[in-house]
Amino acid sequence: MDQSQLIPGRIFDVQGFSVHDGPGCRTLIFLKGCSLKCDWCSNPEGINHTNELIYKTIKCSHDNLCIAACEYSAITANSDEEGSWLKISRFACTSCETYSCVSACHSGALSLAGYNMSLDEIYTIINRDRQYWGSQGGITLTGGEPFLQPDFTVTLLKQCYNAYIHTAVETCGNVPWGNIEPALPFLDWIFFDLKTMDPKNSHHLTGYASKVSAIPNILDNASRLAQNFHGRLIFRMPVIPGFNDTEENIVQTAYFIKSTGRCEVNILPLHHLGREKYNLLGRKYYTDELKIPDKNHLLWVSGIFISMGIKCYTGSETPF
Ligand code: SF4
Ligand code: SF4
Repeated sequence: MDQSQLIPGRIFDVQGFSVHDGPGCRTLIFLKGCSLKCDWCSNPEGINHTNELIYKTIKCSHDNLCIAACEYSAITANSDEEGSWLKISRFACTSCETYSCVSACHSGALSLAGYNMSLDEIYTIINRDRQYWGSQGGITLTGGEPFLQPDFTVTLLKQCYNAYIHTAVETCGNVPWGNIEPALPFLDWIFFDLKTMDPKNSHHLTGYASKVSAIPNILDNASRLAQNFHGRLIFRMPVIPGFNDTEENIVQTAYFIKSTGRCEVNILPLHHLGREKYNLLGRKYYTDELKIPDKNHLLWVSGIFISMGIKCYTGSETPF
């Protein structure tokens, strides 16, 4: 592909010097847009492909400049005594291309989750960070779902791989196989999420309104990856109380991993660190009441995997 023709990547964050999601010190690039909508997602600003307005009430100086700036009348004053100063209609906002409310806001109360970056812009950051990585670092594409922007993802991975940069992707697996396959020659590691084996739970992955189970597609892609990818494939399972932490589901997950011929899983306990972001995006956080799994529970989960011959890494206590 002619790189000058490449559409920019839709990004919502770039984090340098991370020690998670791959070996050594890494630059994490968060791509916007996901085909799942997990209730517990800690990066809700990465789910929608379009840019979204973030409103930080605490920074608002109540001058209403944004109300006047919005040609869609998407922002109104909030007449309720309780709550924030403004009401934002997320529906009215969806067709905006100007984001003039953000330009009008001088206090920093309004900002956008999501921006476009060219391949050159990202590669400049990677090159800047690279000198601080040490011998083992690299890049990890995460999100959101990197394989929903396949041309950008493949081109960036290829450029890095050819420059001897270690490359990794974190994927939910719910994309067409054709989006994944072209990236395989340019990847060293893949983190692949296995959230549940039970189709009855699929609505927690895809939103309450969805009747379509994503699980068959995810498992099919996982099996194909295990056969066709020659790098390191590490499965990941979030541990969400009442959703996927039954013995039955963990044993089924272990059987599935064994069936792929791979043998590594990284279990990640639920946390609530992303809770506040839901407020800023005007969304409800459905898993607020769920208890964070304690150490004994995680030991029990990892014990099942280990007893079935699978290496299990818990949380960020990983050797990578
Ligand atoms: S322009 Fe910014 S500071 Fe002024 S009311 Fe709107 S959000 Fe608040
Ligand atoms: S993003 Fe656009 S439509 Fe939404 S409130 Fe701002 S100016 Fe209005």
